[in-house]
Amino acid sequence: MTEKSEEKRYGRTLSIVVPCYNEQEVLPKTVSVLSEYLLSLVEKGKISGSSFLLFVNDGSADDTLKILKERSKAVENVCYISLSRNCGHQNALMAGLSTACPLSDMIVSIDADLQDDVNVIEQMVDEYADGAEIVYGVRGSRKSDTFFKRGTAQTYYRVLKSMGVKTIYNHADFRLMGKAAVEELLRYREKNLYIRGLIPELGFKTASVNYERKAREAGESKYPFNKMLALALNGITSFSIKPLRLIISIGAAVMIICLLAAAYAFISYLSGHVEKGWTSLILSIWFLGGVQLLSIGVIGEYIGKIYSEVKDRPLYCIEESDLKAAGEKMPGE
Ligand code: UDP
Ligand code: MG
Repeated sequence: MTEKSEEKRYGRTLSIVVPCYNEQEVLPKTVSVLSEYLLSLVEKGKISGSSFLLFVNDGSADDTLKILKERSKAVENVCYISLSRNCGHQNALMAGLSTACPLSDMIVSIDADLQDDVNVIEQMVDEYADGAEIVYGVRGSRKSDTFFKRGTAQTYYRVLKSMGVKTIYNHADFRLMGKAAVEELLRYREKNLYIRGLIPELGFKTASVNYERKAREAGESKYPFNKMLALALNGITSFSIKPLRLIISIGAAVMIICLLAAAYAFISYLSGHVEKGWTSLILSIWFLGGVQLLSIGVIGEYIGKIYSEVKDRPLYCIEESDLKAAGEKMPGE
């Protein structure tokens, strides 16, 4: 290595964290693609030979764990941890990050379905070597998404922005983080996780790499509409209290309308021109009832969050693991 590249942060330990939920169709391919890629980076001298892959089995009901057990024995740089039940993608990712953090200098998180372009990890490592602590994988277009997903995603980014939530446009959970940044992230103890919203809060020197997101290699999406909606709601309610403030604005607006209506009613009364008024009465009952229920719902959403935060339950439970490839001794060794 030249003197210049020695100043850079090359040759450090990289771990790649991959949450997996029912990924038996794609997993064998993912393991071999990632493990070969990792070795190629080691050969180029970009990362250390002790770099490893860490798969997180998120309580899968299929053969995911079986495949991971078998691959971790057969392939030198493969480790896994297995959660005792399905805890959700964000929690599984946190489990992976906290397990990998003490054993590595930098961590890349990536989905198991190979939708994100593995080949840009090298650029991420280059950015890290140049001093970036967080490197975002940003997708160029959304051609591989359905029309519905593309439309809702774009609207969602706009809503987030209007709520004052800092987010990186078209970035999900494909990113590299240096150890210092991961350690900071792990100090956030919140339960309602929206990790991509937390990362910009950390600060640090950041960089981005662009890539085209492909279609899933195999299997089906593990993010059905209800999970997606829950994540999207977390993105707003974990970072912004603007919806609560909006209720005050709506309340104020309704009061002003009420004052105008009262003035109109009074004038009508004085002029002796009193309407029967059934339509306006019934409409305002429905309208105000709707506004009130909606407002209570929004407040309830925040109270629900306080409830789950206060209980402070653990995010996940690791049932078993094999971290030999990461240099950790197994019990009895
Ligand atoms: N995933 C997980 N737990 C879950 C749901 C998903 O660990 O409860 C993982 C999944 O295996 C994949 C990643 O999260 O590695 C993203 O899921 P997916 O690719 O299905 O989401 P999409 O790309 O369709 O939004
Ligand atoms: Mg996917």
